[in-house]
Amino acid sequence: MPRYDYRCRTCGATFELRRPMSQSDAPAMCPAGHGDAVKLMSMVAVTGTASGGSSAAPAGSGGGGGCCGGGCCG
Ligand SMILES: [Zn+2]
Repeated sequence: MPRYDYRCRTCGATFELRRPMSQSDAPAMCPAGHGDAVKLMSMVAVTGTASGGSSAAPAGSGGGGGCCGGGCCG
């Protein structure tokens, strides 16, 4: 069963609920008893930011083994 994050708009608390996907948009109850909670976006749906991005290749390096750049291919 999927898990959803909610935030109470009354007290600002965030909490998780496990509920069927068909009920993901149903009103959620804050642990403190407030009934005005909104669903937060799931973090697992985010794409493009999960790999860190610290391995950027240097520009203009030719790509392959670098042999053809030094005149050894001829
Ligand atoms: Zn609350």
